[in-house]
Amino acid sequence: MQIPLVDLKAQYRAIRPDIDTAVQRVIDNTSFILGSEVARFEEAFASYVDAAGAVGVASGTAALHLALMACGVGSGDEVITTAHTFAASAEPIFHTGARPVFVDIDPYTYNLDPEQVKTAVTDRTRAILPVHLYGQPADMEPLLDIARQRNIWVIEDAAQAHGAVYHGRRCGSIGDLACFSFFPGKNLGAYGDGGAVTGRDPELLSRVRKLRDHGRASKYEHDMIGYGERLDALQAAILGAKLPFLEGWTEARRRHANRYTELLNGTELETPREAPEVRHVYHLYVVRTSHRDALFSHLKENGIGAGIHYPVPLHRQPAFRDLGYKDVSLPETERAAAEVLSLPIYPELSEEQQNYVAEQIRGFLK
Ligand SMILES: *Cc1c(COP(=O)(O)O)cnc(C)c1O
Repeated sequence: MQIPLVDLKAQYRAIRPDIDTAVQRVIDNTSFILGSEVARFEEAFASYVDAAGAVGVASGTAALHLALMACGVGSGDEVITTAHTFAASAEPIFHTGARPVFVDIDPYTYNLDPEQVKTAVTDRTRAILPVHLYGQPADMEPLLDIARQRNIWVIEDAAQAHGAVYHGRRCGSIGDLACFSFFPGKNLGAYGDGGAVTGRDPELLSRVRKLRDHGRASKYEHDMIGYGERLDALQAAILGAKLPFLEGWTEARRRHANRYTELLNGTELETPREAPEVRHVYHLYVVRTSHRDALFSHLKENGIGAGIHYPVPLHRQPAFRDLGYKDVSLPETERAAAEVLSLPIYPELSEEQQNYVAEQIRGFLK
């Protein structure tokens, strides 16, 4: 049996007429840049995450960059974030001229540890950038408290957390701004790159809206120096066609996650833990074990596409290491990087496929 980490073909097969109709509509209208397709998707997505507005941008990375810019983060500033994440969580911080300050994670949720954030705040801290890793919301309440006391921004990296809920609030409407990715393999994925910035403050959102389109207030009037980082109309149409399915897909992911946890019960594998009062949307189903590398190879040899998110923490990456992070020590982050393993998860995953994955794991651990 061959089981990929994600199966985008299975999803397309299930919704083909909706996608094809949306794509054809854009081509027939030849309205490829912004326009009604992007506006309609932005409205639908803002309402999905309970935000005042959404701004469609070129990628999740662009979303983070433009959100930081809109908050005025720049040279001399510090932004507190996690090193147990994809490089794109931190790269845009450097691009603004600011400096990421990496703090350690909570070992059970893999998200920012608020106590560590508290001790890392300095006079230069301009923002906190929590990542809702694997689809589980970061512990936002204490982070928002710190931010309120210090008058600093909170920018959510919600690239893996479409539809996730923290204490009754959707990720995307909790911080000052939130950044989503529509990379094809994300829970809501485009057929190419795409992203969005959501938030509650119309003023901040309007700054992001200008920044993504060359700082323009109107066709020939540039208010600020901006970027060419718009969401494609074709991608917006595809995302709009997919959005009505997202809740069903999310519930399927959550069912598969519960089933994995049952199937792996009693093994030495540590299965994911959900914090109280959250809805985890299982972008990834991540287990941990001290035999990670051997188990990864065993699964690969048996046709199972497991993944490692992420094997090298950002402060240990060649690109970051020599920028003054050599002496940074993040024990929980480093331990997680050595032990985490992502099992295949996607809405269309069958029980038979899950049984096979569990059998292979049990066989290996024996
Ligand atoms: C995917 C991802 C990004 C970047 O999104 P792109 O759309 O690929 O630019 C940023 N942060 C996290 C946590 C991600 O998973």
